Amino acid sequence: MCFEYSFLGDVLGEVSLSSFSFVVFSSSFSCLLFANFSAFWHFFGAYRTPVEALQVASAVPPMHLQVKKLGAMYWLKRGNQQRVSQILHQEAENKSEIISIIVNAWQELWEETKKGRRCFGFFPDIEERMGMELEITGGLMHYLTGHGPYRQKLHQMKIVEDNMCHICGVVATPEHIVLRCMETRNIVWEERQLLGETPVTEVLRTPELVTALRELTHKVSNYYKRKYLNGVDRRV
Ligand SMILES: [Zn+2]
Repeated sequence: MCFEYSFLGDVLGEVSLSSFSFVVFSSSFSCLLFANFSAFWHFFGAYRTPVEALQVASAVPPMHLQVKKLGAMYWLKRGNQQRVSQILHQEAENKSEIISIIVNAWQELWEETKKGRRCFGFFPDIEERMGMELEITGGLMHYLTGHGPYRQKLHQMKIVEDNMCHICGVVATPEHIVLRCMETRNIVWEERQLLGETPVTEVLRTPELVTALRELTHKVSNYYKRKYLNGVDRRV
């Protein structure tokens, strides 16, 4: 938290933190809170999920970029272009230019990091993700990041002894467990029928199918959480 306040001070310059930070944090409190590791974990029940993937999947920019955007917007409204340039390290004359700079910065980070590469496959383009009407629930986050109650992941976390689906005899990947596994066929039959063979990347961009994927992933995650994780701390 010290880093965040210190960084905020750098961005806002001579503005009084006692007055302005309150405005910043109260107007964007939910977003900033959401960018926090613990809040993400608490909300999604994620399994050692890289925060970079959680941010992109949820379309919530990294906290330092949110603060930069707020600082730049503040000085733009007051006509201080010099301050805007100092914060962004380039010139921006209006709100859409500021947003574009922030999105580009996030895109660079997303391409450079080695974390969250499974999620990158679903959402390679930050600008596109920000424009998508897509509500992410816990089960869907598990699937998109691969960090869910699937034996492949649970084995990596040393919670189960092997990474196999013992019903089907194949590796218990998210794809197998959510889309194909025979163990849950009776409880998710309807959702799988609706999705058919449509690739998940396409499902995510098709509102009428996303609901089925959300329900499917929710049912599967709940089923395996009950089966494997009763009493287990998911964040260890
Ligand atoms: Zn199976």
